[in-house]
Amino acid sequence: MKRTPLYCVIGDPIKHSRSPEIHKFFADQQTDSIHYEAKRVDEASLQNFVMNFFESGGAGLNITLPHKESAFLLCDKLSERATLSRAVNTLFIDNRGLLCGENTDGLGLVRDIVDNHGIAISNKSILIIGAGGAARGVIYDLISCNPALVSIVNRTHHKAEALAKRFNIKALEIRSAFEKEFDLIINATSSSLVGELPPICSAMLAPNCCCYDMMYSKEDTVFVRWAKQNGVLHTMDGLGMLVEQAAEAFFLWRGSRPTTTPLLKKLRGAR
Ligand code: NDP
Repeated sequence: MKRTPLYCVIGDPIKHSRSPEIHKFFADQQTDSIHYEAKRVDEASLQNFVMNFFESGGAGLNITLPHKESAFLLCDKLSERATLSRAVNTLFIDNRGLLCGENTDGLGLVRDIVDNHGIAISNKSILIIGAGGAARGVIYDLISCNPALVSIVNRTHHKAEALAKRFNIKALEIRSAFEKEFDLIINATSSSLVGELPPICSAMLAPNCCCYDMMYSKEDTVFVRWAKQNGVLHTMDGLGMLVEQAAEAFFLWRGSRPTTTPLLKKLRGAR
């Protein structure tokens, strides 16, 4: 008898993960049958877990904090975006038995902004705030949309500079970012987690500027609240990115692309 394919998301902590719920929804929608689990795996056990998972017939892994960079180092084969971002969130074995790594976060962000919110990225001046793993994972796909300019600013400037160099974008000191206007500002920091604003001021908002916070929560994040208070008409949070990056992973594994709108409606309704 054919075994139901097994998928799993691993991270530390992992309790908060919504991936099992999301992938179950996708599988049901596609009348596909999969098992999807969430497992806490610490850094020291990561390599063994990944190798054992695939050796025992596991079909695919999602990788979340803090393992995206370590998982990148385990891969035999990487996409161009994963190579540049030096982080992966999706693993699978190809037909030659190679461990393949992809990063679907950037595609997830772009699909959410462009398809779900109807906002064009081409010809826009974009500012990414933050230079951690989340920022690194989305720059490639933002650049692929042909924006007019992509700039990056971070509390710790040298990290922004390193990313800017790798992706050939512009790193701004906070003072200098405060003197420029942007059409799309993406908060890729974890500042909302602690209820703080990232480096931002109202002078940076071009007319019709859109603001995106990669974090999401039941209530507006502090960044989204700030944007609304400063007259931004189009604010977005990271729930759509979460769903879209999962849909892309599902597509890589299962070969069929889920429709995300019903799930987004359900999750937003439940918030
Ligand atoms: P990292 O820990 O790798 O990086 C954190 C970044 O936030 C750094 O640039 C750090 O600056 C900055 N930062 C942290 N606190 C503050 C603060 N109080 N003020 C200003 N800057 C601050 O985290 P990630 O990049 O992995 O994650 C960032 C956010 O993105 C998280 O909220 C995460 O939940 C979200 N995310 C959402 C996803 C989605 O699907 N919606 C996917 C992935 C991430 P410094 O370098 O100076 O320390």
